[in-house]
Amino acid sequence: MKTKILTSVIVLIVGFVINAVSQTPEAWNSLISNAFLESRGYEVMNKICDEIGPRLMGSANYERAQNVLEAELKKDKMNSTKEHFATLGWVRGNDEVIMTQPTYRKLRVTALGFVHQQPQFSAQLVFAENGTEEAIAKADVKDKILLIEKNGMFGRSGPNAMEIVKNAMKYNAKAVLTYNASQPGFTAIAKTGSFASDTVKMPIFEITYEEGLWLYRLLSQGKTVELQMTVNSYCKQVNTSNLVVTFPGKVKEKIVVGAHFDSWDLGQGAVDNGLGSAIIYDMAKQMRKFNPKNHYTVEFVWFTGEEVGLVGAKKYVEMHKEDKIIAYINFDMTGYPIGFNVMGFEYYRPFFEKLITDLNGFEMKDGVKSQPWTGSDHLPFMLMGIPTFHISGKLDEIMYKYYHEAADTWDKVSRKYLSETVAVASVMLYEVANNKDLKHRNLIESEVIDMLQKYNLKEQLQKTGEWPFGN
Ligand SMILES: [Zn+2]
Repeated sequence: MKTKILTSVIVLIVGFVINAVSQTPEAWNSLISNAFLESRGYEVMNKICDEIGPRLMGSANYERAQNVLEAELKKDKMNSTKEHFATLGWVRGNDEVIMTQPTYRKLRVTALGFVHQQPQFSAQLVFAENGTEEAIAKADVKDKILLIEKNGMFGRSGPNAMEIVKNAMKYNAKAVLTYNASQPGFTAIAKTGSFASDTVKMPIFEITYEEGLWLYRLLSQGKTVELQMTVNSYCKQVNTSNLVVTFPGKVKEKIVVGAHFDSWDLGQGAVDNGLGSAIIYDMAKQMRKFNPKNHYTVEFVWFTGEEVGLVGAKKYVEMHKEDKIIAYINFDMTGYPIGFNVMGFEYYRPFFEKLITDLNGFEMKDGVKSQPWTGSDHLPFMLMGIPTFHISGKLDEIMYKYYHEAADTWDKVSRKYLSETVAVASVMLYEVANNKDLKHRNLIESEVIDMLQKYNLKEQLQKTGEWPFGN
């Protein structure tokens, strides 16, 4: 009898201590477990990638895929709205670059976005290093096609496409071929030729590492290389839209959760960004099921046109400039969670550190970092001073290796990673939208400028023409 009472007391005390230690809201249990029990997002994006395929902004495929997404959301009792706008789009045509000297061979080429058709022409090839003005000035480039060597991950180091074209125009070259000297494997990745989504004034093509090195060998041996170029890709006005699902909160201040739904046209747009689209699909579905009413309003957005200059996100920010957006959370090729990134909004660090402590069954070994970067849909929000945070995600090499290439196909998407991300992301969103200890604060313009300078992003944004604040 005595032992029984004592046991009960111990059970009570232990129960109290456990409760005192883990004060996680009940909703967490539902959000985390359900992320592994249902993965509608995986199924929906699998269907879209396999049955429709890639989704270039303004293409018929994009429209069809968006209609499927809308219908699937409806099946899960979520009503979405298309926010339409007109903009300059781009259509890939049947482009050809054929070597006619010293031998006859058709090269593997990928036109950069916004390259525009022109009559067929032939010209000699000349090497102009990495395309800086200095390199182009010292090569004899007039009326020639430039061979430019890029380097680094996805060829991102050195001058960008816009700078190369500008320099090439200045010295009256006729066209540009770029290859990435760091990436063998006969890949020629798609990318935009203009971050401002304007017509590119000179043909510029990505070619493969192997053919780039071959052309370079011929030129360095003093051989004359003659190429014939046919440019059939073209720019045209398109109507397109972002797709939006809103959960009104107790207040109008709004948290936006976004992923780009558009993709390049070469593969299936699976990892980039069927994956992110699937993640926010499941986050929305979880919210509808477990916490549809939050303190703050939450809006999920599947953006158009990210690949061709963040067009959809830029438009969204413009169309919603009267809204009180207090946070933006982005999912673009997001792998399984290993931490959080507060993207320069340092004052959110303690909040995310606590979140990592509480999510102790996940291996968030990267902790909280503050490493802002550009080049995805969070940028226009960040430039407005809207706090943006990301999950630091990890993908296996095979998943990101085929970025922007024909092999970005659904087989690369991991269902397990997706579920893990949805679990952590749903909890994070629940807290961002409800935690009363979290004091949201947007930065004013001078603070945004300071932050971007602190993290050396000013120069980069100036180079892409995306720096909105004078010198
Ligand atoms: Zn992407």
